[in-house]
Order: sequence, then C-alpha cells, then structure tokens
Amino acid sequence: MSELQERYAASMMNTFGPPRLALVRGEGAVVWDDQGSSYVDLLGGIAVNALGHAHPALVDAVTDQLRTLGHVSNFFTTEPQVALAEKLLDLLHSSVEPVETPRPSSFGKVFFANSGAEANEAAFKLTRLTGRTHVVAMEEGFHGRTMGALALTSKAAYREPFEPLPGDVTFVPYGDEAALREAVTDRTAAVVLEPLQGEAGVNPAGDDYLRAVRQVTTEHGALLWLDEVQTGMGRSGAWFAHASSGIVPDLVTVAKGLAGGIPIGALIALGEAADTFGPGNHGTTFGGNPVSARAALAVIETIERDGLLAHAAGLGAHLREGLLADDRVVEVRGSGLLVGLTLTEPRAPQVYQHAFDAGFIVNPPTPDRIRLAPPLVLTREQADAFLAAWPGILDAAYAEQLPEASS
Ligand SMILES: *Cc1c(COP(=O)(O)O)cnc(C)c1O
Repeated sequence: MSELQERYAASMMNTFGPPRLALVRGEGAVVWDDQGSSYVDLLGGIAVNALGHAHPALVDAVTDQLRTLGHVSNFFTTEPQVALAEKLLDLLHSSVEPVETPRPSSFGKVFFANSGAEANEAAFKLTRLTGRTHVVAMEEGFHGRTMGALALTSKAAYREPFEPLPGDVTFVPYGDEAALREAVTDRTAAVVLEPLQGEAGVNPAGDDYLRAVRQVTTEHGALLWLDEVQTGMGRSGAWFAHASSGIVPDLVTVAKGLAGGIPIGALIALGEAADTFGPGNHGTTFGGNPVSARAALAVIETIERDGLLAHAAGLGAHLREGLLADDRVVEVRGSGLLVGLTLTEPRAPQVYQHAFDAGFIVNPPTPDRIRLAPPLVLTREQADAFLAAWPGILDAAYAEQLPEASS
C-alpha cells in the first residue's frame, strides 16, 4: 500500500473500499499512478471523462470562466447557464426524429443540479407535483444514492439499511412489456428507466420496449422519465441513447459525461412537464454555476467539432467485434463507447486484476460481466492495444483458481 493509500484508510470513510490506485496525472485516455505506472483508462471516471484527461478545450473553458465569474447563486443568471439549457434542448429535439404518435410539443425547460442523483431527485420531486404519487421503476436499474434515488432502486442490499424510503414505487422486470402494462395505471405519475442499464452491466432495453413504454405512459397520462445520466451526451454514439427508438420522453436526466468531469447534472423536461415547477418548489446553491456550464458547452462543442459521436459509434463497434472474437466471451452489448460483455465464467474480478497488470483500467460490474466506458477521445491505436492484450488478459484470468463459491 502506498503512503497515500494508508492516509486514505485513516482519514476517508470506507464507502468505496480501498482505492486500487493513487492517480497523479492524466492525458487523453491515459492516467499515471504515484508509482509511475501508466494505464489506458477504459472506464473514463465511470463514463464521465468524455474528452479524456486534461483536454485543452475543457481546461481553457474552465480557466477562462473562473477568471471571469465563477459562482453567483441562483438569485442571478449568467450567459453560460442559459446557453447550455438552450443547447441541451436543441440536442434533445434534433437527435430524435419522432415516429411515435402522441408526444409532447416542442418546447422544454432545464433544471441544473450537480450530479446524477440530484438530477433524478429533481425529476422525482417534479413527478409528485402531477397530483399522482405512483412511480414504476425497473428491476436492476440504478439512479443514484440519495434517499429519493434509492427509492427507485430495487436492489435489496442498497435499500434495506435505509428504509423507510419515499414510497409508492412498483418495480417491474426490465424489458418485460406485459409486466409494464400491468403495473402502469391511471394513478401512475411516471415510469423511470435507463434506455440501457449501465450499472447492471450494460443491459439494453431495446427500441421496441422504449416505444412500448412511451405508448403505455401516454395512454395513462403518466410521464416517461429517461435516466440518461450514464448513456447520454455522446456515450452511446448519439447524443442520447434513446434516439434510435424515435420516442420523445417527458423527462430526461443527464450528468456523468455532460461537463467531462466538472460536477453537473441536468433535468430536461419537454412539453407540459417543463412548466411543473414553480418558485420555491426546488432549488440548489451550486447548480447551474457558470464554470460547470461553460465546461459542458466546451465538451459539447468539442464533440461536435471533432466528430466524436461518429468516432464513438465506430470505435465501439470495432471494440465489440474484437472482444467477441475470443470464445471466452459469450456476448457483447451496448452502443457506442458503452461496452458490456459477458464471460463464460464468473471471472470478472480476475479479468479486472489482470487488465491492470497489462496496463488497462476496466470495470467488473457483476461477477461475469466487464464494462468499458472509455473517453470518447480514445484512439484506434489505444483500442487496438487493448484488443491485442485481451487474449492474454483472459488467459491469466482463466488460469487462476476460482475461490470456493460461498454457501
Ligand atoms: C451514475 C448514475 C447515477 C448517479 O449519478 P451520481 O452523479 O453518482 O449521483 C444515476 N443514474 C445512472 C443511470 C447512473 O449511471
């Protein structure tokens, strides 16, 4: 254990377990630890560092804004926050070509928060103002760690220590249309889901299911709330992962990649839902501050200028194909640079470990799944280096004695 890791253990609450590395520097998709080793970062701060590390566009935007005006509170407004709200609405409207019938009209509004959980918290509060309280959420979904977000999480181990949580939530199996139709009634305020479940190990719902959710919610006058905290802002190879379904949601939450690592979250509401909140209903001190907003604008501009959506889509497909070529990989999932794969055996922790040894940071969300969410600026050469190392990583992981299954 390095000196920093010892100090960590003595001073930091043990919410995350011991940190695997102490990192000191990053550039593009590469990070360096305090021992001088470098790693290709295929997790990107958990789908956050869209532009990788130390990208000049992000550094310049944040530096310039902080020199000019860093924080003002929500008693006042600034150009960057309004410009970002306009841009997000623009992207949301232009990224979907509506094919489904009843849909919200074209207007919309944005609320800025500081994280994904807070964006979802805002959305959850908004649903309560519809005059209904019932929310339908998905098994294995993830929406964050606040009490409200936790109420939308089905996993018993996460929930039970903190109950009672805000109630009136029904969980349905993700992707099961019949179960959804049974759960949603005229007293349902909203259905919340990720278009692609990230923490569950990159689980797609499929466009047909998303269209069914849109139809059912419209039939019952309930809001369709998409949690795109992980999948949004280019991660999927499109601005929003639901775009290919053609549906228009009522609520969309985004955060992780939005400002490339500067904390921010946003709730975007379209149609009538946009005017639900009134003065005093919700608030935040930091949310929508000009530094985070400028950072997000810089990320979006860079993605547009450098063609990173197409790059993410193409490189993601290349990675999936290369990873699947090994027959210890059962299947690959996801879109763009959100990549999930299932191993033939529960060896994800071993793969994670041996990937480190080979100089790559990957993520094992479940015992038999590996997730990659690298920076959108990951190069073809870096991806190919990982694909070249992949069979060797699997060899080492599969050569290990598996611990006895605990009874
Ligand atoms: C990460 C995540 C959250 C929580 O975001 P935080 O910024 O950690 O609060 C919510 N929803 C989804 C889908 C996520 O992946």
